[in-house]
Amino acid sequence: MSEMPISKEKAQFHIPELQHRNFRDDQFWKDIPGWASVTREEFGSHLWQLKNSITKVDQVEKVLGKLATKELMADIRHGQKITPMNIRITPYIFALIDWQNYIDDPLRKQFLPLGSQFLPDHPYYRDDSLSEDTDSPVALLTHRYNDKVLFLPTTLCPVYCSYCTRSRIVGGGTETKPKDTYGASQKRWEDVFAYIRKNSNIEDVVISGGDAYMLTPAQVKFIGESLLQIPHIRRIRYATKGIAIFPIKIISDDAWFKALIDVQKMGRSYGKQVVIHTHFSCENEITKWSQLAMDRLWSEGLLVRNQAVLQDGVNNDVEKMVLLTRKVAYMNIQPYYVYQHDMVPGCEHFRTTLAEAVELEKAVRGTTAGFNTPTFVCDLPGGGGKRHVASYEYYDKENGISVWKAPNVKPGETFMYFDPIHKLSPEAQARWNNEGDRDSMIAEAKKKVNL
Ligand SMILES: *Cc1c(COP(=O)(O)O)cnc(C)c1O
Ligand code: SF4
Repeated sequence: MSEMPISKEKAQFHIPELQHRNFRDDQFWKDIPGWASVTREEFGSHLWQLKNSITKVDQVEKVLGKLATKELMADIRHGQKITPMNIRITPYIFALIDWQNYIDDPLRKQFLPLGSQFLPDHPYYRDDSLSEDTDSPVALLTHRYNDKVLFLPTTLCPVYCSYCTRSRIVGGGTETKPKDTYGASQKRWEDVFAYIRKNSNIEDVVISGGDAYMLTPAQVKFIGESLLQIPHIRRIRYATKGIAIFPIKIISDDAWFKALIDVQKMGRSYGKQVVIHTHFSCENEITKWSQLAMDRLWSEGLLVRNQAVLQDGVNNDVEKMVLLTRKVAYMNIQPYYVYQHDMVPGCEHFRTTLAEAVELEKAVRGTTAGFNTPTFVCDLPGGGGKRHVASYEYYDKENGISVWKAPNVKPGETFMYFDPIHKLSPEAQARWNNEGDRDSMIAEAKKKVNL
């Protein structure tokens, strides 16, 4: 594991001039032995991408051919015994992985975890770290903030991210994690719409999951139109990682694209906002296909914002974060959030300290337009909601304990976020390993805020 890479010297980053304007347009998939003869036309078809998506370890081995070394395959199989997420990867992303250097590849890390890279879960991890199920007045809906809600119409995604914050429900069950997954069900959605209709303070709906990419065109329309017809709803956002990991669908799935545009036009005619929130995590995901997908969305007037998750070895480095920010902005995507990693199972090797997030925030701010500068937030364990990473009430950096308040969400309550133990000093790690010390450190930190 790398140590915290951010230092004052490092903040003098260097990115080659205009690198963010280069969008690779080579036939990168031809480096994958199983796809060496796939034409650009085939690769650029959403049906081909779906049909050839990788959902099993054996397929990895088959497609990689001679690149599938014994060590690699054993490590991936080992990973499958630990991870709470099962495998699903689009050929687009699979082919962008640098298989010669798979250990450090940020895309491989996100979608095909190696058993050797997992670390023990933090003692305070939770399956539902953000208490989405606790703050749920009706199935498939979380209502935490006054005027906005989170609607989870499906638990399916076009890829499964090894670090998913909703690993408790998203994707199918794994060896370590049985799940109550559900597919799209119009009947259950009606209860959600009924709740929203009854609560006239709600103006804003996040349609997430799972991933809106997995909804059929009819479902995209049904959900969008049902929500827009509720008089007090002013804004809806479809959340999808799709543009990042499967841009080819935007370019070639005309029926799906049209459904989305129809909803957006209906929104315009009602004077309401329909936007997309997507999820690019690093520059490696971005190619000419991404730009073409964005050109198509932009030409129809659809606004897209980006939410990245801060991850060790993926984007926790000033150069990488600045490049990601500039490059998504160059495609007309507005960088919106960078999330401190949630404290969910199977993610310790992804998490960073809060201090890293604060340093990155400082380094990124000022590099481009303010409206293209993401806000770095920590979504508080226990359901305090999203807070700016530097707005903690108290932070014991040595022991990796931060204490927070959320006056507009849960007035009077205190929340805590914990840095990953393996990034702390050996002395602090020893304290965490002793339950008595652990309890007193936490009590001490809480006292600092509640006195
Ligand atoms: C993130 C989130 C929202 C949307 O929050 P924004 O800060 O407006 O992006 C709404 N509800 C819940 C439960 C959320 O977690
Ligand atoms: S796309 Fe989103 S919901 Fe789906 S697995 Fe990835 S992080 Fe989870």
